[in-house]
Amino acid sequence: MLISIVVPCFNEAEIIERFHSHVTRELAALTQDLGHAFEIVYVDDGSADATRALLEKGARADPRARFVSFSRNFGKEAAMLAGLQHAGGDAVVIMDADLQHPPELVRRMLELHAQGYDQVIARRTRKGDRVTRTLMARAYYRLINRLVDVELVDGVGDFRLLSRRTVDAVLRLTENNRFSKGIFAWVGFRTTTFAYENAAREQGRSKWSFGKLLNYGLDGLISFNNKPLRAALYLGFLLLSLAMLYAAWIVVSTLVNGVGTPGYATLLVAITALSGVQMVMIGVVGEYVGRIYYEVKRRPHYLVAATDEDARRAEAAAA
Ligand code: UDP
Ligand code: MG
Repeated sequence: MLISIVVPCFNEAEIIERFHSHVTRELAALTQDLGHAFEIVYVDDGSADATRALLEKGARADPRARFVSFSRNFGKEAAMLAGLQHAGGDAVVIMDADLQHPPELVRRMLELHAQGYDQVIARRTRKGDRVTRTLMARAYYRLINRLVDVELVDGVGDFRLLSRRTVDAVLRLTENNRFSKGIFAWVGFRTTTFAYENAAREQGRSKWSFGKLLNYGLDGLISFNNKPLRAALYLGFLLLSLAMLYAAWIVVSTLVNGVGTPGYATLLVAITALSGVQMVMIGVVGEYVGRIYYEVKRRPHYLVAATDEDARRAEAAAA
């Protein structure tokens, strides 16, 4: 059995060598025990630092280290997709390059995989996270699980083992706007989850700013359902009936009491409120139209600038 480790890397030069020696040590011991082979597929997501040079060096030194290097930064989702496409393993483990996903857990994953699970998910606890982020995440998941069609769980990320047939299934979902959490959940198959304690990033900085997280959350909300459109419809109906009731009340009250307060105050409130609502609704529709626009372009998810095969060929030509 061949085990592939897929590692998206964006500006990870500070830690990549340490990551590689750690993972190879761990996997060499593990695969020896079980009689498996392994490969590591690094995906350089257009890093601006020495990541790519280090990956080339690593690939020359170790035939089990492979890499794909993008022409620019395409984002982690694209990097994971490329990794899955290039991985040849019977089981594939996706792992971050910053050692926040302990390589020791791969053993546990393989054990569970041997028991017949197609997806083995390592769920991190939020210990050590900032309280605000924990609270926001909790609120977000409570909200999103009411809305989306797939079940999303807090702390469940991309650190997981996928069987070959699961990988093939994931690769059949060719949408451009990739929300992996949802895609993995959508694919299904026999899935199991175990928890591990969250580790702080050892070197470098997290690439997630608050704004990026917000956008990611919105992507999740919109990628996996059309309930916001439905909500727009209901809200429209609600406002319409409120307006009718109010109109009826005005007629009655004018007949009974005569004209009281000047009309422009209510007009102003109604106009601003309604145009606000309309703007939001157009925004919701726009989100979906924008997505359709990106999907129909059918652009590639990423562009490859170099792979380990190029590096090895160049080396052979030089020799
Ligand atoms: N990453 C990537 N492309 C990006 C951003 C991040 O490939 O545009 C990789 C990064 O190198 C790391 C993983 O995705 O291996 C997770 O990133 P990070 O540690 O910044 O996220 P966090 O752990 O804070 O969620
Ligand atoms: Mg990290």
